[in-house]
Amino acid sequence: MKTDAALVLFSGGQDSTTCLAWALARFERVETVGFDYGQRHRAELEARLRVLGAVRQKFPQWAGKLGEDHLLSLDLLKQIGGSALTDAAKIEMGKDGLPTSFVPGRNVLFLAAAAALGYRRGIADLVGGMCETDYSGYPDCRQETVTATAEALTLALARRVTIHTPLMHIDKAATWKLAEDLGGQPLVDLIREETVTCYEGDRTHRHDWGTGCGECPACELRAKGYKKYVGA
Ligand code: ZN
Repeated sequence: MKTDAALVLFSGGQDSTTCLAWALARFERVETVGFDYGQRHRAELEARLRVLGAVRQKFPQWAGKLGEDHLLSLDLLKQIGGSALTDAAKIEMGKDGLPTSFVPGRNVLFLAAAAALGYRRGIADLVGGMCETDYSGYPDCRQETVTATAEALTLALARRVTIHTPLMHIDKAATWKLAEDLGGQPLVDLIREETVTCYEGDRTHRHDWGTGCGECPACELRAKGYKKYVGA
C-alpha cells in the first residue's frame, strides 16, 4: 500500500480542482477519478480534461506527479433519476427541504467507487471536495457522513481508507484563497478560466469569477465567494 499516492475525486469544478492542487502539493503521485452519471450537461466532463491539460502545461512542478485519469460510469444515478442534475427539472427547494439538485447517495457511491479503484491502484488516500460550510443542506457533504463512510470502507476492504476533505470547514472565499496559497495567481486564473461550476453547464457568459449562467445556485455561490475573496 503506497502512502505517497492519492486519488482525487475530480469533476473539473472549482472545488475539485483546488483539491487536486492540494493533493499535488502533498503527495508524490496523484491520480484522478471522475464519474459519468448522466449529468444533464456534458460541460463538466469536458472541463475535466481541459483542467488536467492546463495543470500539466502551467505547473511543471506538478506535471510529473500527475498520473492516470479514470472515468467511471455510474449510470444507476440517472436510472434512479428524480434530481435536477440528471433530469430536466428546475433547481428549487424540494418537498424534502433539500434543493432538487440533491442526488441521493451520490457522495457515498462516489467514495465507494473511488475506494474500490484505489484498492486496485494501491492507493489508500482519497481526496474529495465535500464541504459542510456551503453545503446547501446536502447531508452527504457533512463531516459525519464522510467519517462514517471512511470507516465503513476500511472495514469493507479490510484495508485502510482515508478520505481527505481539505474544503470541509471553509467557505467559497477561503477556497479561492487556498488555491492562491497552493498555486498563486496562475492557479486562481486557471480555475476562473477552465473550471465549470454552473448547474446549467453554461460556458458562454463570462464574469470576473469565470463562466456560467450567473443565476443558478452554484453560480451564485461561486460569484459570492469570489467577491468576498477579492474584497478581503
Ligand atoms: Zn449557473
